[in-house]
Amino acid sequence: LGCPGLRPYRRNKPVSESNPANNTSSGTEKRDIKVIVNEGAAKRANMTLPPTPVEKPGYVYVALYDYTARTEHDLSFNAGDKLEPLRKEEDWWYARGITGISANKEGYIPANYVAPIESLDAEPWYFPETKRLEAEKMLTSQKNKNGAFLIRNCESQQGELSLSVLDNGKVKHYKIRKLENGGYFVSKTRSFFTLRDLVEHYSRNEDGLCVCLTHGLSYNTVDHWEISRSSLKLLKKLGAGQFGEVFEGIWNDRTAVAVKTLKTGTMDPKDFLREAQIMKKLRHARLIQLYAVCTTEEPIYIITELMSHGSLQEYLQKDKGASLQMSDQIEMGAQVTSGMAYLELQNYIHRDLAARNVLVGDNNVCKVADFGLARMENENVYEAKEGTKFPVKWTAPEAIHENKFTIKSDVWSFGILLYEIVMFGQMPYPNMTNFQVVQQLPKGYRMPCPLNCPKYLYDIMSECWKDSPADRPTFETLQWKLEDFFDMDLSSYDDANRY
Ligand code: AMP
Repeated sequence: LGCPGLRPYRRNKPVSESNPANNTSSGTEKRDIKVIVNEGAAKRANMTLPPTPVEKPGYVYVALYDYTARTEHDLSFNAGDKLEPLRKEEDWWYARGITGISANKEGYIPANYVAPIESLDAEPWYFPETKRLEAEKMLTSQKNKNGAFLIRNCESQQGELSLSVLDNGKVKHYKIRKLENGGYFVSKTRSFFTLRDLVEHYSRNEDGLCVCLTHGLSYNTVDHWEISRSSLKLLKKLGAGQFGEVFEGIWNDRTAVAVKTLKTGTMDPKDFLREAQIMKKLRHARLIQLYAVCTTEEPIYIITELMSHGSLQEYLQKDKGASLQMSDQIEMGAQVTSGMAYLELQNYIHRDLAARNVLVGDNNVCKVADFGLARMENENVYEAKEGTKFPVKWTAPEAIHENKFTIKSDVWSFGILLYEIVMFGQMPYPNMTNFQVVQQLPKGYRMPCPLNCPKYLYDIMSECWKDSPADRPTFETLQWKLEDFFDMDLSSYDDANRY
């Protein structure tokens, strides 16, 4: 097949962090060392695996043997025919024929009769999850030569691919279109069966492109997060924290960004940058995306995507139900669980989940932010930010009393966040002090069902506030429960909703 040993597709690599114990700065408050039981991981070990995801576009299989369909739902094929699996279900895959006797037909094929022929993930130019802006940053890195290029998923059209090429210091983007039969083209005049063929062709001649594709990305550009300070303009202050300010900015006179600055002398830059280190490893549509950093001189900047409406807490407080309806609020909660389910899967814990740390973009898009305290779940050292006030009302009892932070303490915090969402950003436990909350929780006290809150939603909050962390749901479960809300029979929704 010409490509033995190529990885069939990219899986999430296990993420690990540099030893946090070495990053301890003077002045950082150190808590007791507690071993945190990785309950999520232990549970997962007993779970059956989810179905293997279908590979990204461009993944093609070749038939090794002839196969004659045995039922009307199977596809017949001959050795050498090309097929694209659309859905993999154990031994039988639902596939589409690309060439040969089953071209353009869909049906089941025996998985052991085919082998992958285009494993794009092994290609040095294939960066599917890279956004347009990041592609520009990667390609304009000084180490790259003219003609450096990469292929990535198109941001605006799902399932489409884009080719980003460096041409005289500027990055040009071309849409790669997919043909019905599985081929690709940049220009209608010439199409290619595989992406590799396309790249090979344009590496030999420009043929209408701005420049010949010559060099892949230079080694290490992929982790090239440092950008020049002069490429940024800070426009408007968005907020201020204890350690610095957050600005709306513009990068390369083109791209709106948020710039988080560290006030000189207030905090060890290493601690501040830890947030960026964590963000570099995490990528999900419901988590704030890191774009770049400026760390060579002070003040240090962390540059992220800009969220037009700021924090969820302020957003809710401003709206107070004027435009947001219960269905919007539930949708927002579901979005948070989607980001958190990703953290859960990656074995990360957030440790400061609250409406103030969720940011809102257009159309009520919510993303989880503020990874300053996030950690791998099995890390056993907790270091609080110097002077950070403990967010008592959001913190699970076992985290308050025993310093035991797990994904399940994040689930507790999510229950509080749901309350904030339902109550339009109102302070939880409105008539209680932090001290009273700490006293009352172990006695079984929980916030009552807020006025106007559907019972179904309050039940979810109550599950998050179970005494025993193991009894609380996973974020994965919370996500489908909230998403299911929309599938509920409207009449039963109404009944539950009659306050
Ligand atoms: P922080 O110090 O990260 O809690 O940010 C302080 C405030 O700045 C937040 O409450 C938001 O109002 C605003 N902010 C932070 N990051 C962003 C962002 N990426 N987009 C828009 N506003 C932001």
